[in-house]
Amino acid sequence: MKPESVIKKILCFGLAVAATVALGACAMPAPENANDLTSGSESFVEDGSPTEDRSPTKARKYVIISGNPVNVRSGAGSSYAKIGRTSRGKKFALLGTENDSAGKKWYKIEYTSSQTGWVMASLAYIEGEGNPPTKKKSNGKVAYLTFDDGPSANTVRILDILDKYDVKATFFVIYHRNMKSRYKEIVKRGHTIALHSYSHNYSKIYKSEKAYFADLKKIHDYIEDVTGVDSKIVRFPGGSSNTVSNKYSKGIMKKLTRSVEDKGYYFHDWNVDSTDASGRNRKASLLLAKVQAGAGRKKTINVLMHDTGKSKKTTVEALPSIIQYLRKQGYRFEALTEDSVVIQHKRNKS
Ligand SMILES: [Zn+2]
Repeated sequence: MKPESVIKKILCFGLAVAATVALGACAMPAPENANDLTSGSESFVEDGSPTEDRSPTKARKYVIISGNPVNVRSGAGSSYAKIGRTSRGKKFALLGTENDSAGKKWYKIEYTSSQTGWVMASLAYIEGEGNPPTKKKSNGKVAYLTFDDGPSANTVRILDILDKYDVKATFFVIYHRNMKSRYKEIVKRGHTIALHSYSHNYSKIYKSEKAYFADLKKIHDYIEDVTGVDSKIVRFPGGSSNTVSNKYSKGIMKKLTRSVEDKGYYFHDWNVDSTDASGRNRKASLLLAKVQAGAGRKKTINVLMHDTGKSKKTTVEALPSIIQYLRKQGYRFEALTEDSVVIQHKRNKS
C-alpha cells in the first residue's frame, strides 16, 4: 500500500472518530502534490491506533490565524471561490493540508460548524507548532514610523536620526538608479525595507491587476537582489483608498486589496499623516502639529512621511521633535513585520 493511502486511511478514521463534518476530506482525491500529507510531521492523527480511546478534541490540531485578515477558499489555492474571511487570533480545527499548483501550502479548516474551507498556511500556524505569537501587542502604544518613495539624498540623515533616538522604522521604497548602497544601509541599520512600487507611475500600475503585480514583482525582485530581503510588506502608491486609480481601471483597488493578500503580501496604509506630501518643504512645526493631532489618543499609529530629497528636507527637520513627542506620549517604536498590527483604510467586504 502506498504511504499516502495509509495515511489517508488513518486520516479518515481519525475524522470519523471526531464525528464531524469532515467526510469531504476523505472523499477528496489525493492532492497532486501531497508532500504534507505524507511527510508525517503535519499528520494530525499520527498517534492514533484503532483501539485507543481518545477524545475527539485531543486528536485534533488547531489552526490559528496569525496576522492579517485571511480569505477562506473553497479549495487549496487562491483561484478557488472565496467563502469567507477571518481575522487575527481566530482558531479553527485543522482537517488537512495540501499544496496548490504553485507549491504554496494550504490548511483545510472547519470554518463553521457546517462548512469547511482552506486558508493559506503562510498566514496561519498550527497551535503549539511553528511560530506562535511572541508578544502581546495589547499592552502599550506602538508607533510605526514609515517613509515612502525613498531612498533619496535624505536617507542617511533620516537613518542617523533614527539611530540617535534608537528607533526602528519602515521604508517603503521605489526604484531609484544609483542608490544601491542606501537600500543596503536601511537594512544594515536594522530597519524594515518594504515594497512601494517600482515605477510609482499610477497610470501604469493601476491599469490592470496584471500590470500592478508585474510592477510589484519588479521592485520585490530588485530589493531582494540588492539587499537579500524577500519583503512581503507592501504599501500601495496613494494608499488602498486612493481614487485616482479609478481613472485607469475602475474598482481596481477593491480587487488589488484582496489579491495582494491572496498572494501572501501584507499591505499597510497609515492613520497619521504628517502631510509632508501636500507641498514642498512644509514647515517642520506644521508637520509635527499634524502628527500630534493625528495621533490623538490612538493606541497604534502608522505615521506617513516621505524620504524624497530636496522637497522633503523639513521632514528630516521635524523628525527629532516627532520622535520626542510620541515617546513622551508613551509610544514605543517598531519597524513593521509580517506580525505587526495592520492599519488599512479599506477592509474589503466579502
Ligand atoms: Zn509614494
